[in-house]
Parts: sequence; C-alpha cells; structure tokens
Amino acid sequence: MKRLSRDPIEALSRFKGVPFWTTSFYLDTDKGKFTKKEIGLAFKNLLADGRARIEALALPKDGKESLLEDLDRIAAFAAQSLAAHSQPGLAVYSCSKKKLWEVLGLPHGPRNRLLFDQNPYVRPLVAILEKCRRLCVFLVNRREAKWYEVFMDEIAPLQELVSDVPGRVKVGGFEGTEAKRIERHIEAHVLDHLKQSAQLTFDLFKKSRFDGLLLGCEEKGCSELEPFLHAYLKERLAGRIKAKPGDSPTEILKEAVKIEEEIEQRSEEETVRKLVAELERGGRACSGIKDTLRHINQEDVRILAVSHNFSKEGRLCPSCRFLYVEETVCPVCEKATSAVLDIVDEAIEASVAKNAQVKHVTPPSKLDHYGKIGALLRYKV
Ligand SMILES: [Zn+2]
Repeated sequence: MKRLSRDPIEALSRFKGVPFWTTSFYLDTDKGKFTKKEIGLAFKNLLADGRARIEALALPKDGKESLLEDLDRIAAFAAQSLAAHSQPGLAVYSCSKKKLWEVLGLPHGPRNRLLFDQNPYVRPLVAILEKCRRLCVFLVNRREAKWYEVFMDEIAPLQELVSDVPGRVKVGGFEGTEAKRIERHIEAHVLDHLKQSAQLTFDLFKKSRFDGLLLGCEEKGCSELEPFLHAYLKERLAGRIKAKPGDSPTEILKEAVKIEEEIEQRSEEETVRKLVAELERGGRACSGIKDTLRHINQEDVRILAVSHNFSKEGRLCPSCRFLYVEETVCPVCEKATSAVLDIVDEAIEASVAKNAQVKHVTPPSKLDHYGKIGALLRYKV
C-alpha cells in the first residue's frame, strides 16, 4: 500500500481505462470514530450497494464484468487487510480489464463511497492534499545547518551545511585584547555561516516553494539570523521548533507534526471565530447550506468553512453548474437539475475552482450551531 502523495494522484489522473470504467472506493477507517465492527459493516453495505448499481448500468457485458471483478478484488483485499489497516482512511482504485490496482492509506477519514466512472475519482485526494502543507524545517547552530522537508507525516532530508568556524579558545594576553580579537574573528565566521544558511534556505524555497518554514535555533542565533532571512521566508515562518541540527529525523518529525496540528487547530478556531463575529454583526458572511450554496453560485465566497465530513444530498444544474438543495428546475436557465449524492462536496469543489479558500473544521465547533457550513464573503449581503 502506498501513502498519499502527489505522484499517485497524478498517475491516477492520467489513467485512461477506455472503454472500461474504473472503480474508486473510499472508506473511513478512523478507529477513533468507529469500531472495527462499524467499519466492517459500512464496507459490506457499500459493496452490496455497488453490485446492485453495476447491474443497472448501461454498459456492455465485459464492461460490467470488469467492474464486478473490481469489487471481488476489493472484497478479497478487505477480508485480508481491513482489520489491520491502521490509517484513518483507505482508498482503492481498480480497473480489472486494464490492470489498474492502486491502494492508498489516507491521513484523514474520507466520506464512504463507491463510484464507477470513466476515470478514477481523485477529488477527495486533492481535498486531503490541500489540507496538508509542505513544510521546510531549518535547523541551525553556530557552525552547522540542516534542512528537512516535512509533508504528509513524512520527513526527508534536503541539505546540510557545516561551516569552518574556529572553536573558542582560551588565550591570555594583555588585558584580554588578544582574546577579544579572537572572539571577534569567531563571531565574524558565525555571522558568515548564518548568512550563508539563510541564503541556502531561500534557494531551497525558490526550488520547492514550501508552504511554511519551521525554524530551530537558539535564542541568540535566531536574533542574529533574522536580518539575513529574506522577506518571503519571514512571511512563511510558521513557528519555532525545539530541535537541533544533530537530532534524529524521527524526533524532528514528531515535533514538526505537533506544531503543524497546533497551527491548524488555531487556524480553524480563528476562521470560525471570524465567521461567527461577522454573522452576529450582519456583516460579510452567510451560514447554512442553502445560503452558502447561493453565495457560491454568485462567486461571492472568500473562505468556505465546512464541518469535517458534513454531507447532504442536493441538486446540480448540468448547464450552468449551479448548486441547489432541492430545486428540480434551475431557476436561472430553467433546465432540469440532476441529483447529486453530496452537495457539500460539490460546494467544496466549486469553491476551490473559484479561488475561494476552503477550511475544514473539526467538530465539535461553534460551526455546528450554524448548520455546519458557512462562508466569509467578498461582498456585503
Ligand atoms: Zn442552470
């Protein structure tokens, strides 16, 4: 099984099974939320429902066979591995007649679903990736510096630097002038080292465009380093990390993940706080699925806040792509709308496409009192 990263997503996006369809399977396996029994039951129901749906599809015989083989294979896989699956989410993509078989462990529980389509359905993966930031960990002391990349709970070394800084030596001399001269000489080397480290960090940023920087250094080193940090890096400074260049990657990763979770939690709370404040003063905000969909249709949403795993059935206009809760006829173009299983997912996708920021909020939160969904708007209501 692979862990989620951009590579398998890109490979899946490129996959073409024509004329055969692909099965995409998502299961929430978060054992913090569900018992093993509940997960097993959800799995069984999804598969039973899938088999029934294949029968009803307008596909040639071998097309249906391919999908049924997918389900057999997924069932066999689950029988063997589901109980031991330790990650909060599972995704499987299969197109038996075209030899596609891909299993991914996910760092967040997805919505349970089983889909048959001409292409692999990767949108939930994209949503999870959006949530995961690429961090650069920059650890520096007076003569060493080390850089790591942290992404999707994995750590990889990027670069290291060991500068030729002379050690401190005790030297006698008339009233310590010689000692002071040596001290100044050492300090000049240290500053050079910090300057070079800052420059290398910026070079790494230009290459890999990380979303956040975690800085680990002693108090004094930090104040000396700061003037050398490029403005772009200062903007991305996500926090300080208690780690040294010589620490083990496992320890560094643990610390980085903890900081990232705290940042994410603070950011969720901040979004909900702003949203509630705007709603209460009747400002640029809306809440509840109906109003939020209306503002998404009007391209008026700046930040969409949605309670994690909130889902609801709805309607989609095939012509203008507007989203509705219950309109069977689109009020804008008067075409018949079609049913969608999850209008919240459509809302998330539409918001991303219209350059709005999407914030998944971990329940329980104050957002629960406002219909589990809301938005900060560009314009006043
Ligand atoms: Zn329409």
